[in-house]
Amino acid sequence: MTYGFRSWLDSSAEGTAPLRIVTSATGDLEVVAAELKRSFDADPAVQRIELVVDGNRLGMVTRTRLRELLSKFERSDPGAGDGATLPGRSSQYTVLTYRCGTCGVTAKLLFVDEVPECVGHGPMDRVS
Ligand SMILES: [Zn+2]
Repeated sequence: MTYGFRSWLDSSAEGTAPLRIVTSATGDLEVVAAELKRSFDADPAVQRIELVVDGNRLGMVTRTRLRELLSKFERSDPGAGDGATLPGRSSQYTVLTYRCGTCGVTAKLLFVDEVPECVGHGPMDRVS
């Protein structure tokens, strides 16, 4: 499953990002993709988001990379029926948002409920 997430990364983007999506390797790829899209849509200044899967910082998903991925999802595989649409914010999953009180790094948690830690600053505070 982690392989699925790995294929999303933009290998040319290095370093860290002020926004992280934290998920589990067993998390639904389309739900995570939808949350990435929402996060990019919500703030035009966000150019990349760091992906953390099962506690490992995998790398960066960039705006450009996500656009490519979404076009693949929309093509959908034959037999999937009526064409896949990305799920909206529904009751099927909850996004927990945490922020570091020192540096402001934000982490959005999907399919995990452990308090995320900021590198160097310790546990983050829950904001929503
Ligand atoms: Zn911090």
